[in-house]
Amino acid sequence: MDKNVIRQRLLELRSSLKETAVHSASRCIVESLLGLEQWKNAGEVLLYWPIRNEVDIRPLLTEALSSDKKLFMPCCRRDEPGIMDFGVVRAEKDLISGSFGIKEPCRSRCEFPDAVSPDLILVPGVGFDRNGFRIGFGGGYYDRFLARPQKDGFLSVGICYSFQIVDGFPHEPWDQPVELICTDKELIWRN
Ligand code: ADP
Ligand code: MG
Repeated sequence: MDKNVIRQRLLELRSSLKETAVHSASRCIVESLLGLEQWKNAGEVLLYWPIRNEVDIRPLLTEALSSDKKLFMPCCRRDEPGIMDFGVVRAEKDLISGSFGIKEPCRSRCEFPDAVSPDLILVPGVGFDRNGFRIGFGGGYYDRFLARPQKDGFLSVGICYSFQIVDGFPHEPWDQPVELICTDKELIWRN
């Protein structure tokens, strides 16, 4: 089926979720992630700010900030659609409102290293298949980032609700799969 059709349908389903459903599923997902060895061992993590009923992983931001993990968050380039830079966030006050209503690291306050290669990368998605392939908002942001050289042994984790696991959409040459998907019902490792 066409990626755009699936994207639209999944976005509608997600926007119709009640706050309580978002909260309880998000809680399950956060607990699963906190239990992963790869979370416990990660020195550097890349997390996202949830928008439009995306899985609310904000407790992980708090957790990362209060531990000795180095927290990176993405910042979309205004003048170059599809490209993100990654800033080091040391406190919640380092975040400001950015593109698409996403809170992002403030460019004047945060460090933006040239080479960013976190141990653990959380990837929000509109849909995923069981091989880790992803449908995003259609901008190719994470495809571009994941195509860059990454640290040996890094783990990319797709984050979504169980209803967002769909099969049968086409993969395009630039699509980058994630290694693991974490939903409120299961962990799905890529074969
Ligand atoms: P999404 O992954 O957000 O669902 P798509 O996979 O449809 O979006 O990609 C959107 C656009 O991004 C495509 O037009 C594609 O050409 C472009 N794109 C993705 N990855 C790269 C890349 N590594 N280099 C250049 N363009 C890319
Ligand atoms: Mg893609």
